Amino acid sequence: MSRMLPYGRQSINEADIEAVAEVLRGDWLTTGPKVDEFERALSEVAGGSEAVAVTSGTAALHVAYVAAGVRTGDEVVTTPLTFVATAAAAAIAGAKIVFADIDPATGNLDLDSAEAAVTPRTRVVTAVDYAGLPVDSAAFAAMAHRHDALFVEDAAHSIGSVLNGVPVGAGADLTTFSFFPTKNMTTAEGGAVVSPDPELAARARRFKGQGLVRDRDALRFPDEGPWHQEVHDFGLNYRLPDVLCALGISQLSRLEGFRRRRQEIHDAYNGAFAGNPHLTVPGTVEGAAPAWHLYPLRVEADRRKAIFEELRRRGIGVQVNYIPAYWHPVFEDLGYRRGMCPEAEKYYSQEISLPLFPGLSDEQVGMVIENVLEVAGS
Ligand SMILES: *Cc1c(COP(=O)(O)O)cnc(C)c1O
Repeated sequence: MSRMLPYGRQSINEADIEAVAEVLRGDWLTTGPKVDEFERALSEVAGGSEAVAVTSGTAALHVAYVAAGVRTGDEVVTTPLTFVATAAAAAIAGAKIVFADIDPATGNLDLDSAEAAVTPRTRVVTAVDYAGLPVDSAAFAAMAHRHDALFVEDAAHSIGSVLNGVPVGAGADLTTFSFFPTKNMTTAEGGAVVSPDPELAARARRFKGQGLVRDRDALRFPDEGPWHQEVHDFGLNYRLPDVLCALGISQLSRLEGFRRRRQEIHDAYNGAFAGNPHLTVPGTVEGAAPAWHLYPLRVEADRRKAIFEELRRRGIGVQVNYIPAYWHPVFEDLGYRRGMCPEAEKYYSQEISLPLFPGLSDEQVGMVIENVLEVAGS
């Protein structure tokens, strides 16, 4: 193998390509029938919650925080073991970010730590389905509601995952997806917000569409003329175009196949590494049927960097997910200090993500296993 095996990559087939080409030959490039069709298909995967397609997972988080009413002075409680966008989008909406620690078994936000971080100013609690393993959305939503806050689930890793029969997207007040190429399905760039609450979904839809109101019943000046539309709250343009929604529809129809292949690879890694005294395999929970986005292996912290470099040298494109969000200089400059969330810091210090994507062959999986055992497991 001459090229570096990536840690994640898209799976695009001829049907995906044809779906995109067909839209390019048609009348609508941006907002047309494929947006509605993609949103209906997303709603089905998300247990019937209304879906709003947007331009990225980061945009989805921004839209979700605005729909939840986050404004300057509010607090958002979240996990540090995530891509920084989970926190950054809330900070952009004006919130102060309060980090709570993780459950070291799964990497997911710990419910008790999150509740301990809640104050009367908390507007939202946001958990991340780390690596694809769903958090207990019912428990998080109940906790948030007890404190007059909303629960947002950053499901950038976990579209297609199910916990106790409940699909991701059905349990939180607002759930966000990302369709970046390394994620469980892709639209190149893209994302979505889903909500079982029609009012939250309507606010999300207005914000991603420049705030425009066209419904006659909702207009303040309904008799202005047939051209008339109004803005009642400022919005942005986060509309996902028809071209990309067509790719999303095609990818969604392949999601269950992706999930099964990801699980097979996950099982093969677990089979090779579980019980090895130098390695810790990712935890799961009873009742979960995850669509695994990542395979976060943990190694001895003092060897992590050397193992990472040696695996890369051998052509295995490992990754680290994630540096604790508050280690980013933007948080350091705001006064956040290392040591705040010791479990998340320990997890980060040991973590290496192995290649995991549907197009990985059994032979490649075997090659990764062999090299990891040679480099890290003995
Ligand atoms: C990828 C990711 C995002 C951001 O999604 P983009 O589509 O890249 O903007 C947000 N949160 C988490 C946990 C992610 O992994």
